Amino acid sequence: MFKSLKEKLSAFKRKLDEKFRKEEEVVKAVETPKKEVKSEDRTAEDVKKVESVRKVEGKEEKPKKVGLKEKIVALVKDREVVIDEKSVEEILEDLEIILLESDVALEVVEEISKQLKERLIGRRRKIGEKLSDIVINELKLIILDILDRNRFDFDEFVESRLKEKRPLNIVFVGVNGTGKTTTIAKVAKRLMDFGYSVVLAAGDTFRAGAIEQLEEHGKRLGVKVIKHKQGADPCAVIYDALKHAESKGIDVVLADTAGRMHTKKNLIDQLAKIKRVTKPDLTIFVDESIAGNDAVERARMFNEAVGIDGTILTKIDADPKGGTAISISYVTGKPVLFLGTGQGYDDLVKFDSKWLVERIFGGI
Ligand code: GDP
Repeated sequence: MFKSLKEKLSAFKRKLDEKFRKEEEVVKAVETPKKEVKSEDRTAEDVKKVESVRKVEGKEEKPKKVGLKEKIVALVKDREVVIDEKSVEEILEDLEIILLESDVALEVVEEISKQLKERLIGRRRKIGEKLSDIVINELKLIILDILDRNRFDFDEFVESRLKEKRPLNIVFVGVNGTGKTTTIAKVAKRLMDFGYSVVLAAGDTFRAGAIEQLEEHGKRLGVKVIKHKQGADPCAVIYDALKHAESKGIDVVLADTAGRMHTKKNLIDQLAKIKRVTKPDLTIFVDESIAGNDAVERARMFNEAVGIDGTILTKIDADPKGGTAISISYVTGKPVLFLGTGQGYDDLVKFDSKWLVERIFGGI
């Protein structure tokens, strides 16, 4: 999980440690304890020294290159080093490339950069406090903040809604092959583990295979599947499932929908009709983490065209990059509800920003 992102962040951290080590050596060299020079005096003096590099005997000279030593001396104050804008720019240059290569959406990379700049420029770092630790820690906090913007607790939602009405109608949308059917089965299993009763609606009537696939999951889980023939109106299938659930006192209907049709417009029109007619309590978009920016763009498209309440990202276990999980809720403005972490029915993790950040940064 997130192997390549982890490796890149580790290399980035090592590079920062190297930069820090050089700075620290220079700081040690200029700090001569025997002299007992007050650091404030020395700083003022040395800042002047740096400025005087530009002026020699009253004559304006071409600016000389200010070395690492002068620069650091000027930045040292009370055994602290001020993190300057240039250092932050250098850090960001490397970091932005890592994030973009890891499929973090551009607008999210920009947000991370903006926040890092605000948090780092002018910040004082104690001598001995590693620059890399500060940067990685701030990066973690920023990603946590981004992930926590659209919080939603699926379990609480189901529990409180079921007090008001029965059955709940949860509709799953998204393109084929991303793990939508398996995810419906995983959610069914999870709800049953929590003591709820469930029925599945085979609303992808476009492909005969989709109906069979859902039936197979239903058989394995011991859950009834309401189905019509291939080509039937999916609204009618979901409506029947809702009627069945109502009459049998079943708590939740989980409805599959088509992920592909003759044209994108057909698909969107069909999903819009399902929403209009069956009035889902939740419309959940499913896509695979490994699709990167494609998944994020599809989420944006489905949200704009149909309206989604949240996302489930599958195949997170097979994703070396992690950018989709970092970006998708920021881009759609809708929460991630669960992450798919394998092919088994129990491989579904409730979304938790801390869990995700730990998977990305753990050991770095
Ligand atoms: P659908 O066409 O979107 O309904 O996709 P399926 O549910 O048939 O899933 C496609 C493939 O992805 C199947 O082989 C699933 O077992 C697999 N899959 C689904 N979710 C996950 C997951 O979280 N991790 C992994 N590794 N595979 C998954």
